[in-house]
Amino acid sequence: MSVQKKFVVIYTDKYLVDIGPHVFPTQKYVMIKNHLLEQGLITEKDIVEPVPATAEQLLLVHTSEYLDDLQNLRMTPRVIRSELPISREIVDAYILCAGGTIKAVEFACKHKGCGVHIGGGFHHAFPGHAEGFCYINDIAVAIRVAKKDGWCERVFVVDCDLHQGNGTAVIFQNDPSVFTFSIHQEHNYPIKEKSDFDIGLPDFADDELYLKELSRVVPPKLDEFKPDLILYVAGADPYKDDQLGGLRLSKDGLRRRDEMIINYSAEKQIPLAIVLAGGYAYDLYDTVDIQTTTCALAIKAFSH
Ligand SMILES: [Zn+2]
Repeated sequence: MSVQKKFVVIYTDKYLVDIGPHVFPTQKYVMIKNHLLEQGLITEKDIVEPVPATAEQLLLVHTSEYLDDLQNLRMTPRVIRSELPISREIVDAYILCAGGTIKAVEFACKHKGCGVHIGGGFHHAFPGHAEGFCYINDIAVAIRVAKKDGWCERVFVVDCDLHQGNGTAVIFQNDPSVFTFSIHQEHNYPIKEKSDFDIGLPDFADDELYLKELSRVVPPKLDEFKPDLILYVAGADPYKDDQLGGLRLSKDGLRRRDEMIINYSAEKQIPLAIVLAGGYAYDLYDTVDIQTTTCALAIKAFSH
């Protein structure tokens, strides 16, 4: 019997941009892709290259003034809050990355499967300004495109990055068709906005508390909301050895977190798109290991 694959992996070497000395490890993307190939979980044929989001697609979320700053590489007050340098290569990578999340969402919706984006998750970008390493909110752009093009109607964002998905929360604040959920460290960046449901965890929260809170809220809320797309923001920064994080999850805890979301989606046959978001472990290999596991669990769950 042949194995039916209901997943796609979105990746491009163009995500490997030079952002100078910085805590954000752009080299993680190629390492994750290579691990998946080496482990025999995917072949080159499973990998799809993203195409850049169009100006029209970006404007579904972002203001024209802000996009104009980005396109002209102007370090305005709107742009400077990214805490990143700006260059043609960097702006192009973010726009391409929004295209990658669009592709992941499109595949998931059209094939009732899973789009694994080895990239994306830039949830701190607001309509009119950058924030916290995020220029373009690829999550929001992809959701708006998907709804406009009729791929899906009701979207549930499960944001498990250590930091609150503040940009995404604001963008969908008045949109009842998109449910934003965020579980994060309360006493950390950013200034909190209001998601549809927030869990702000205390410093040093461990596997037990994290998983107890996640399981208390997410499956029942998913049952109630009945999304036709789940967008999973699978940040690796709740890991105990993260440079920017103050939670204390183990790799096993993070794996169980991933399984809760991925298995829910696979069992209920709800399209799933995954983006990687943050991850700043002191040892880069830990971030790569955690996020390779996330991708691997999804690939296995959607290969029957
Ligand atoms: Zn983060």
